[in-house]
Amino acid sequence: MLRSALLAASRSPQARTLVEKFPPTHAIVERFVAGERLDQGVAATDELVGTGRKVTLDHLGEDTKDAAQAAGTAEAYEHLLAALKETGLAADAEVSVKLSAVGQFLPVDGEKIALENARRICEAAADAGTTVTLDMEDHTTTDSTLAIARELRADFPWLGVVLQAYLRRTEEDCREFAAAGSRVRLCKGAYKEPESVAFQGKRDVDLAYVRALKVLMGGEGYPMIASHDPNMIKIAGQLAEWNGRARDSFEYQMLYGIRPEEQLRLAEAGNTMRVYLPYGQEWYGYFMRRLAERPANLTFFLRAMATRG
Ligand SMILES: Cc1cc2nc3c(=O)[nH]c(=O)nc-3n(C[C@H](O)[C@H](O)[C@H](O)COP(=O)(O)OP(=O)(O)OC[C@H]3O[C@@H](n4cnc5c(N)ncnc54)[C@H](O)[C@@H]3O)c2cc1C
Repeated sequence: MLRSALLAASRSPQARTLVEKFPPTHAIVERFVAGERLDQGVAATDELVGTGRKVTLDHLGEDTKDAAQAAGTAEAYEHLLAALKETGLAADAEVSVKLSAVGQFLPVDGEKIALENARRICEAAADAGTTVTLDMEDHTTTDSTLAIARELRADFPWLGVVLQAYLRRTEEDCREFAAAGSRVRLCKGAYKEPESVAFQGKRDVDLAYVRALKVLMGGEGYPMIASHDPNMIKIAGQLAEWNGRARDSFEYQMLYGIRPEEQLRLAEAGNTMRVYLPYGQEWYGYFMRRLAERPANLTFFLRAMATRG
């Protein structure tokens, strides 16, 4: 119930105005977002890399309905990738991109524009010597996102895709994307989805995650285990062992600000641990999904609201 309400609010302009204007929000957002500016994203990357972690940076934004804004987002990624190259961080930091931020939802030629903008970002990444992963949004975008990914992979075979374990289709998608060299981030899924397309309860989603993970770990690709769930992390380690996988043939990923001690533990144990690091002004949707994932985050937020009166 609560999760559904928060996810619905994540797409409501009225709720957005309310949350953005509420002064204590910013202090809480800081836990999950590196800052609003590029230099803050780069500084946080430098700090994480200094502790043995890798990074994937997200220039925040989504659901763009304006072609100029979509092009502006592609340009922001070009600046980011140039900064990673200049600072020598590109070896340890890649970028994550939401296709809806670069035009996928534009009413005319949305997919074509998103493909062109994503291509610009991939070219900048190739120039910097790093990679790109396409984030996955709600299920109405899955086919379009995977189609764009297939097209881009013809030129940029290192392009990463995200598959969401809660979608009933994902085990099958894993079979297609488990091929040699294929970078696949497996997450549980963060959007409000109908029962017709997605498992609903935690137990069913966890079981689906393990089934998908078995396919990816047994395949020839490069699985990226994006979860904070101790059970999923443990199972991933066991599957890696059973499949005789070398430490550098898969990686763990977690979100900035979530379970940092576990991030360090995994990195110190010799695993590749990548942190998903968002920065930028468009933090509202991202922040609301983080609240929806964990009731304790919401309690923290509401307590701050109450003390402010
Ligand atoms: C690197 C990365 C990239 C992602 N990319 C995408 C994407 O492209 N598309 C998409 O739909 N989803 C994405 N997600 C989000 C993902 O789908 C889940 O919503 C999120 O990771 C929570 O699921 P979980 O696997 O951590 O397990 P859960 O069962 O939700 O959580 C397990 C435990 O992790 C901790 N935890 C989880 N979430 C939080 C939180 N918000 N705050 C504090 N503690 C928390 C808690 O201790 C919790 O008990 C991504 C996640 C990661 C880590």
